[in-house]
Amino acid sequence: MKRVLISGAAGFLGSHLCDRFLSEGYYVIGMDNFITGDRKNISHLWNDSKFEFIEHDVSEFVKIDGGLDYILHFASPASPIDYLKIPIQTLKVGSLGTHNLLGLAKAKKARILIASTSEVYGDPLIHPQTEEYYGNVNAIGPRGVYDEAKRFMESITMAYHRFHGLETRIVRIFNTYGPRMRLNDGRVIPAFMGQALRGEDLTIFGDGIQTRSFCYVDDQIEGIFRLLLSDYKYPVNIGNPNEITIRDFAEEIIKLTETNQKVVYKDLPIDDPKQRQPDITLAKKILNWEPKVKRRQGLQLTFDYFKSLSKEELYKMEH
Ligand code: NAD
Ligand code: UDP
Repeated sequence: MKRVLISGAAGFLGSHLCDRFLSEGYYVIGMDNFITGDRKNISHLWNDSKFEFIEHDVSEFVKIDGGLDYILHFASPASPIDYLKIPIQTLKVGSLGTHNLLGLAKAKKARILIASTSEVYGDPLIHPQTEEYYGNVNAIGPRGVYDEAKRFMESITMAYHRFHGLETRIVRIFNTYGPRMRLNDGRVIPAFMGQALRGEDLTIFGDGIQTRSFCYVDDQIEGIFRLLLSDYKYPVNIGNPNEITIRDFAEEIIKLTETNQKVVYKDLPIDDPKQRQPDITLAKKILNWEPKVKRRQGLQLTFDYFKSLSKEELYKMEH
């Protein structure tokens, strides 16, 4: 049985990856320190004999008994309000955490896939973003802690590939959403849906003409799974190219949630990218992958999940 280590296993994407690998017959070792994750995301796996969980900070030395075939490094705060709140941990998990897992992959002769991000393109000056684009990142701005950690992560991963011949994969994930996102993580979908459920106004940052392109989690996981098993070692964009302005998106959420909320405008966070849309030509070509889930359907599934949460969770604003 193939053995896979997933860091960030108690998070949104990490927990969906655990489910996917278990359903494919793998033995899964999940690792997390719960800094932005939640035990609840993996509680359904506690009694699965093919699942093992290690509570550990991957920025500290990582020790695993037995062999490993694959490592997926997904540990990192991912939402702007999270990484603004814990900037040093964000830098450490992207740099030291990645170094530790690359070392582990080398020792175990395992293939490693790292979770990079569209944020390596910063506030992009080309549109849509292709993998060849070098990006436009403000290293010393508040978002720089995340963007630069991820850029370093890509760089050290390629160095391990070139210098040690390690089998590496790099996914550049564009805004992904779905069940198990944290309602209070500040990202736009949980923010708007939480506001709709609490009867609050929807907060649009800036004038709302900035764009994003939202990918449903099942599509994202399929892309990552295919990339891991492919033989392509350079970065690949995985995301949904269907782009929308945040203003139009707020209207979509109001319709979907059948609420009559108003929108209110707040200050745009510093360095908030103005446009974001993945060019997925490469993923289509080498992975034969493209997203299947329409935004209407994905948002409904996500809203159903948020609706099922308790009142306590709905009103919990701190974590
Ligand atoms: P998340 O916050 O839900 O999950 C991250 C998990 O990592 C959490 O469970 C957290 O507790 C854990 N973690 C953080 N630091 C750790 C450490 N030092 N040691 C052990 N565990 C640690 O976020 P997510 O949306 O699931 O993102 C997962 C990964 O995907 C991240 O690396 C993120 O940068 C990347 N990503 C996500 C998106 C997206 O749209 N969801 C977009 C681009 C990149
Ligand atoms: N945003 C917003 N209102 C909110 C939360 C976010 O208008 O309550 C905006 C945010 O400024 C950004 C977009 O929505 O332009 C997506 O934000 P998110 O934090 O989800 O992801 P990222 O900026 O990392 O793409």
